[in-house]
Amino acid sequence: MGTGTLTIDLDALAANWRALDALSASTVETAATVKANGYGLDAGRVARALAGAGARRFFVAVAEEGASVRAALGPGPEVFVYSGHMEGDAEHLRAHDLIPMLNSVEQVTRHFEALPGHPFGMQLDTGMNRLGIEAADWSALRDSVLAKGPVLVMSHLACSDDPDHPMNAQQLRAFQAMVGDLSVPRSIAATGGVLLGAEYHFEVTRPGIGLYGGLPFEAARPVVRLSLPVIQLRDLTPGETVGYGNSWTTDAPARIATVSGGYADGILRAISNKAVLYAGDIPCPLAGRVSMDLLTIDVTHLSEAPEALDLLCEQQTVDDIADIAGTIGYEILTSLGTRYDRTYIGVSA
Ligand SMILES: *Cc1c(COP(=O)(O)O)cnc(C)c1O
Repeated sequence: MGTGTLTIDLDALAANWRALDALSASTVETAATVKANGYGLDAGRVARALAGAGARRFFVAVAEEGASVRAALGPGPEVFVYSGHMEGDAEHLRAHDLIPMLNSVEQVTRHFEALPGHPFGMQLDTGMNRLGIEAADWSALRDSVLAKGPVLVMSHLACSDDPDHPMNAQQLRAFQAMVGDLSVPRSIAATGGVLLGAEYHFEVTRPGIGLYGGLPFEAARPVVRLSLPVIQLRDLTPGETVGYGNSWTTDAPARIATVSGGYADGILRAISNKAVLYAGDIPCPLAGRVSMDLLTIDVTHLSEAPEALDLLCEQQTVDDIADIAGTIGYEILTSLGTRYDRTYIGVSA
C-alpha cells in the first residue's frame, strides 16, 4: 500500500448525530451541516448515513454542493444553502430542489424574480457581520417576506464554542427581537449552540463539527482514523540529521521510519518536529520536517518494526493535531487529502 488509509466510521457519525439530537427536546429537529463535502468526508455518504439516523434537513454552503447531497438523498429531505441565492444559482436551486437561505436585500429581490414560488429561508445577522440581513432591513422587509412563506429563519453565533462569552446572550436577544413572535421554524444553534442549552435550540438545530467528532462536542466519538504505511526503515549513527533543513539531529543511534503522507495530503507542515504518530498506543515523534509526500518518524524505542503508524486514532484526535498546528479541528478535517485510500465502515456504509 503506497498511500495512507483513511477510515471513516459512519456508525460513530450517526451516534454523534443521535447524541447531539438527544441534547435538545424531542420537539426540536436536529438537522445536519454537510458543507465542504461533509467536512471533507464525502457529503453524499455522510448525508445518507445521517438520513439513516433520522436527519431530515441538511445544510450546504453553496448551491453547487447541494447537487451531490440531493443525488445521494433522493427526493424528500430538505437541503438548504447557507450562501443563499447567488447570481446564476437559479437553475441549480430549481434542478436539485435546494432551499436558499436568503441573506441580503439583493438576494431577496433576486429570488422572488428568478424563482417565484420556490421555497426559501431567511438568514438574519445578529452581530457576526458575515452573512445575513441586518435588523433595520429586516424590519422593512419582514411583512412582505413573511407573506411569501419562508420555511426557516436562522442566524449564526460567532462565539458559541465559548459558553461564557457574552456575545452568545447578546445574539440570542437580537434573534429574539427579530423572530421571537414568528411561527416559522427558527434556528440559531450549530454544534456550540446545541451545547449552550435549550434557550438556543428554537425549532431546528444544525450541528456540523460535532457530528464529525470535533470540539466543542467533547463527548463526540472519533469518526476518522488515519494510518500511514511505513515504506522504509533506516538506522542512524550519532550526529546524523533527518529531512529538509537538517532540523532534526540524533545524538545516539536511532531508527527512523519513513512513512507515506505529507503536506500534499493535508498533514500540515506546522506540525514538523512537534507531533507524534502512534504505533498501537506507543507515541513516536515526528523527526524533522513534514515534506510534500513523506514523514520521518523516530521509532528507535519500538521493539518491532512497524508496518504503519497512525496520525489520527483513539489516542490523537483532529483537535489534538489542530492544537499542535495552531488551528482548529475543522481545518484538519477539511484538509484531509485526496490520495488516501478511503474506507467507510459501519452498518450505514
Ligand atoms: C458551518 C456552519 C454551521 C455548522 O457549524 P459547526 O460549528 O460545524 O457545528 C452552522 N451554521 C452555519 C451558518 C455555518 O456556516
